[in-house]
Amino acid sequence: MQWQTITFDTLDSTNLEAKRMIQSQTAAQSLHGTVITAESQTGGKGRLGRAWESPKGTGLWFTAIIEPHTTLAEASLYSFAAALSVAEAISQTTDLEPKLKWPNDVLLNGRKLCGILLELIPYSKTAYYLAIGIGINVYQAKEDFPPDLQEKAISLAMASNQHVDRMTLLDAILEQLQKNCTLLETQGFAPVREQWIAQSAIIGREVSVQQYGIPLYTGIAEDIAIDGSLLVRTVDGLQTVTAADVSLRSQDGNYSF
Ligand code: ADP
Repeated sequence: MQWQTITFDTLDSTNLEAKRMIQSQTAAQSLHGTVITAESQTGGKGRLGRAWESPKGTGLWFTAIIEPHTTLAEASLYSFAAALSVAEAISQTTDLEPKLKWPNDVLLNGRKLCGILLELIPYSKTAYYLAIGIGINVYQAKEDFPPDLQEKAISLAMASNQHVDRMTLLDAILEQLQKNCTLLETQGFAPVREQWIAQSAIIGREVSVQQYGIPLYTGIAEDIAIDGSLLVRTVDGLQTVTAADVSLRSQDGNYSF
């Protein structure tokens, strides 16, 4: 597959632009491999409709459209492939070693560097595309983030003195993404899962699981199941976490985001 990048100055969100393109596409045109980038997003979103800060020129805000070759049930596994690809590309192009947090965050020094929003967009009664939205903080200083994010967010520039060229990073991510999506489609989740676990910040750590901001339970994050759910060992036994947020217990005993 050949990636084809379309660049915008400002968009509401690159995932929304992907949705518009998919919905207005003609039958003869395939959008598989289309990449939409924006210098800024006015309405960037994370999971559950949460806002994603994406000010002008400070980050890499993009969406990769692919036509997946898996069942609908397996589509969510692409977010593991995407997070792994971001971590691998950053390790290759910088002196940094990001870590992964379930389900799809990329962390540096325990703070959020990148968010991923995977959306399934149907284009006929039986076929759909995946819009893999990826936002990476690149040049921000701590003060550039809103106050409530200053202790939770990080950029590549905050973590390293190396200059990062956003287009070089984008190319490296797309190369890894192609490799990992092919791996997922030809060998199933196992190899991506294994590499994801090897770079995880979460397996073996004490975590708190919340849903809609409400704490449900705490326990040790034990494993990622073959369907992508997180297995957490609690006093009541092994819990399977499918749709929730997870916080890691830090050394001071608090659960930091
Ligand atoms: P995803 O799992 O897709 O990353 P989230 O809902 O976890 O989705 O991401 C949105 C949350 O991330 C926001 O509620 C906010 O706390 C935080 N956030 C928003 N913008 C940024 C940013 N640029 N960098 C780091 N964290 C951010």
